[in-house]
Amino acid sequence: MQLKIDFETNSIKEMVDISIQRIQQFEPPEGYYVAFSGGKDSIILLILMIMSDVKFHLYHALTGIDPPVIKKIVDQLVKQDLCTIVKSGTTMWKLIPKKKMPPSRMVRYCCEELKEAGGKGRFVTTGVRHAESSKRSKRTLVEYDSYGSQSKKAKKERRKFNLMNDNDNKRRMIEHCQIKGKNILNPIIDWSDNDVWEFIHKNKNLLEALGIEYPYLYDHGWDRIGCLGCPLAKSSTRIKEFLEFPVYYINYLKSFDRMIEVRLDNDMDTEWENGEQVMQWWLEIKNKKEFTEVDRMIKQKYLEQKEKAYGNNNKIMDHVIKNCNRKI
Ligand code: SF4
Repeated sequence: MQLKIDFETNSIKEMVDISIQRIQQFEPPEGYYVAFSGGKDSIILLILMIMSDVKFHLYHALTGIDPPVIKKIVDQLVKQDLCTIVKSGTTMWKLIPKKKMPPSRMVRYCCEELKEAGGKGRFVTTGVRHAESSKRSKRTLVEYDSYGSQSKKAKKERRKFNLMNDNDNKRRMIEHCQIKGKNILNPIIDWSDNDVWEFIHKNKNLLEALGIEYPYLYDHGWDRIGCLGCPLAKSSTRIKEFLEFPVYYINYLKSFDRMIEVRLDNDMDTEWENGEQVMQWWLEIKNKKEFTEVDRMIKQKYLEQKEKAYGNNNKIMDHVIKNCNRKI
């Protein structure tokens, strides 16, 4: 497929050329395993793979906590035989009680369990970028580690969880992951946020040519689309996500309730009495009054969406909402 790219600046043209060279230079005989999240970085990666004229196939790790627009894009690519959905066999809702703690920036067990299952023995490409990580590294790291054991084993486990995750600023253009037995190429690792936005905004028509939807949330002030409620994102971002998709907030509350039960069953120290208290800690909202207002607004949105779900056309959301029945 021939794709014609529009550039506003020469620097983007250069970035594209360099990324294509990287992709072509390392092309493995069996073709690349492209880790496709459905967000802007991986959409750019897809376009670059096509432009590079190399052998590849997309693999989307189904997390179950992505916004419905991602599912739609992935389904559109699956229909064209460009993408395969990789199921981990678990969900965030099962993992939270199983791990007996919510995922956090320090212990990102969900990435390990939900996103990194596939690609063993393959040459993997990702849309990982340093700019994403430097933005994150400026954030204050507030970790209230009520569950965190200081034993050597626990520390080793935490280090293991943090390996190869997401946009870590230790990531390189070429990587070898011994634990997972895969080589990884990150061809857009040095693209800035501006490069990415310029490319995406100038080339919306390319998505149409590829038969995939433009993720409308980018035009509604979202700068990242991925796991809803991800602990790597800022508190305000997560609240915004939950206001748009409140059913996921309710599902997190349900999982936190179950997590507390499991912790008590296992005689673990637990100050939390209900899912809401865990949520306040998890969203890093120190002020109780502020949290109560956030909680009220999101639950109100949920009730409104639940009422609408029975007559609306968004099948994915309807399904999720109808299956969510926590008392609020
Ligand atoms: S929620 Fe965040 S940390 Fe967890 S799998 Fe998703 S991206 Fe990784």
